[in-house]
Order: sequence, then C-alpha cells, then structure tokens
Amino acid sequence: MALITKKPRGTEDVLPRDSYRWQFLENIFREEAAAYGYREIRTPVFEHTELFERGVGDTTDVVQKEMYTFTTKGGDSITLRPEGTAGAARALLEHGLFNDPLPIKNYYLTSCYRYEKPQAGRMREFHQFGMECYGTKNPAADAEMIAAAKAIFDRLQIHDLHLEINSIGCPTCRAEYHKALKEYFTAYRDELCDDCKDRLERNPMRLLDCKVEHDHQLAEGAPTIQEYLCDECREHFESVKAYLNAVGVEYTVNPKIVRGLDYYTKTVFEFISGDIGAQSTVCGGGRYDGLIEDLGGNPMPALGFAAGIERLLLTLDAQGIEIPAPDSCDLYIASMGDRAHLKAASLATALRTAGIKAEFDVVGRGLRAQMKYADKLSAKYSIVLGDNEIDEGVAKLKNMQSGEQKEISLDPEQFISEFTQAKLAYDFSE
Ligand code: ATP
Ligand code: MG
Repeated sequence: MALITKKPRGTEDVLPRDSYRWQFLENIFREEAAAYGYREIRTPVFEHTELFERGVGDTTDVVQKEMYTFTTKGGDSITLRPEGTAGAARALLEHGLFNDPLPIKNYYLTSCYRYEKPQAGRMREFHQFGMECYGTKNPAADAEMIAAAKAIFDRLQIHDLHLEINSIGCPTCRAEYHKALKEYFTAYRDELCDDCKDRLERNPMRLLDCKVEHDHQLAEGAPTIQEYLCDECREHFESVKAYLNAVGVEYTVNPKIVRGLDYYTKTVFEFISGDIGAQSTVCGGGRYDGLIEDLGGNPMPALGFAAGIERLLLTLDAQGIEIPAPDSCDLYIASMGDRAHLKAASLATALRTAGIKAEFDVVGRGLRAQMKYADKLSAKYSIVLGDNEIDEGVAKLKNMQSGEQKEISLDPEQFISEFTQAKLAYDFSE
C-alpha cells in the first residue's frame, strides 16, 4: 500500500464508530478527578529534550532508547513527550503553581510517544490519564491517590485488577541497597544481557525491571529493598498500608516493583490486569519527592500515577464489558417538495438548538431513500413532511421501533415540547 494511505507503525486511528468508547473513559476520568479535587493541566506535546533527560532519568529505557528526539531548524533539541509527569512538573515551576494552596492536585489526559517495538498493548503513540499531587509527604496522600485510581477502575466495572505496592526507599537507604544489588548481580555478570551489564554500573535497581527472561529469573533471587529501608521510609510504608486498609483497598506487597522511571521514591504501585497478556500493567505510579528539586525548584514532595488508556480498553474488551453506544439520531425529518425541504431545514435547526439530535436530507434523495437512511442511522423517530403537512401545520411522529404514530404540531416550540415528552416516555403506546 502507498505510504500516504498507511499510518506509521505503532499508531492507531480511533474511528468515528469507536470514538464513543474513548469519550466514555475520558468522561469518567474527568468526573472522578473532579470528585477527588483535581483540575486539568495541558502541556505541550513536545518539550526541551533536557527536561526528560533530567526528569525521567538518563539511565531509563525511556530516555536511552525510546524517545522521539529531533533537532529543530533553529538547532534546539526537542522531544515528543514520552510521559506526562515531567511536563506537568515543568509547568508547575515555570508558572509558580507551587505558591497555590497545598496540596496541588493536577490531572492530565494526553498522548505519549515512545519508540518501542509495537505489540498488543504497546504502541509508539499511546494515551495516558494521570493524576499528580504536590506538596505533601503524608502517607494519607499516597493512599488517597491509589484509592482515586481504583475508583476509576471500579467505575469502569473492571474486575480482577490486582494492586501491587512497594517502597523503593529514598536516596539514603537506596545507596546501601544499590551496593547489595551490585554485589548480587556481579556474580552473574556474564549471564546478564548487554543492557543489564550497563545497568549494573549506572543504576543497579533497573536490573529488577529487565524484560529479558533470564535476567528476570536472576532478579527473582536478588535482595529486596525491604531489608534496607531506613526508619523513615519503613514507617511511611507501614502507614500507607494502614491507610489502604482503612479505606478498604486490597493490595499485595511486591518487593520487585521498581517502576521504569528514575524519579520514584518511597511508595510505588501498579495495577495489573490478568486478562491482556504480557503488557499487563494498566496503571503505574508512586511518589517522587525528589523530582521538583531535580528540575531546579525548591524541594517539594509529589506523587502521581499514569494509566494507559489503550490497555484499559483492551482490558474492558477482554472482560466483555460493553460501553453503551450513544444514540446518533433522535428524529429523522423526511421531506418531499420544495416547501417541505425548507421546513425540514428550519425545523431541524430549531430542534438542534434545543439539544435534539435531528437529521434531514442534505443529499437530495427521494423519500424512500431518505427513510432507508433513517433506518441506517437507527433514528428513534421520524416525520414525513409534504405540502399537506405544511398547510395543516401538523405531521405524524412515528416511533421507528414500534411503528406507532401520533400527531405532532410543526410549530417549532410546540414540536419541541411534544417531542421531548414523547422521547421521555420513549414508547408512547405505553
Ligand atoms: P511497561 O513496563 O509496560 O513498559 P512502563 O513502566 O514503561 O510500562 P509507565 O511509564 O509507568 O509504563 O507508563 C504508565 C502506563 O502507561 C503503563 O502502565 C501502561 O499502561 C501505559 N504505557 C506505557 N508505555 C506504553 C506503550 N508503549 N503503549 C501503550 N501503553 C503504554
Ligand atoms: Mg516501558
């Protein structure tokens, strides 16, 4: 196929017949975010490359291998955002949002770009919904954040999503842990993949996140961070668990969760779906108390999560959860003759202003073809306008499902009120 009629690898089109599914999810995200006191932040699709190198971390797979980076005509290095947190944090610093009352609660709904090997649940352009909370170290905030994510998945009626949590400590306790990991993995150095050999030097915790099967197996036997947590991190984690228990959120502690991005500290968590194969993490998040400082701001604790919309949709499909398709047409106004055509246009305009989904013929079809089209639209009701109807000012409102008919005034105001009643009752025979 010619290139111009083929989308780039790893991208998807959302077609008109499917877009309601996205809108349904997006509406739920927005409603739940509002219920938890979050407001939307929108940031550019591209940022200075340096932001992600610093913010996401230059030892991560994302920065090392997956970024869409290019040089502009002006010579700047620009990168398409691979995730939402760095841009949101940059905006917080740039606009002084840190002066707002704490905690600051922002959410985003964005496309992200990573040059990965495309497969089910792994795209080069994908979409994330994320929540970010700044200005609190309190473990109550960690539990609230996790509960907010869960509230969204519950509203989507997703079942058997498994929550796994861990604490990966702070830079202080992690130093000791890194040493222990280095010691453990050095014994297997020759068996490690090339990436992990490099990770061993630069950031040994990344080894636990390796997707290569043998490395993954070796990681099973590695020391866990739990034994190395400092008192503060240990107490924090205990308290997060107590809050989760208090709000009735079930979880498993998985000491192997480290998350793929460098900015995490203390709490990390993942929601994992048992139904969508290998790319099973639908949502990942945690605390990143060092990020704002890393980006040059005054220290400000923060936490957040990002959920992958494509993986959520795959999970809904796999679990047979149907999203209700919206009605596309409330009323089809068929017409015969010039006067009726004009009336159809004016009536449809008035009805649309009143929020009624009305359609009329803009193709120039005959009456039969118009009615056939009304069927294809699954119009709930129809009327047929001809000279008679125009002269008398009334038409027959037909329920397309039952076939029943009832007179309705063609005066727009009256039409709207009578139609609304009929529609509310839906089937006027009852
Ligand atoms: P993975 O381990 O699957 O690569 P990750 O650790 O890179 O995930 P994050 O950067 O934490 O993922 O992103 C949060 C969420 O975004 C993931 O849990 C997933 O649902 C989604 N996501 C990440 N990368 C992709 C991708 N390439 N395609 C589709 N969704 C993705
Ligand atoms: Mg990844």
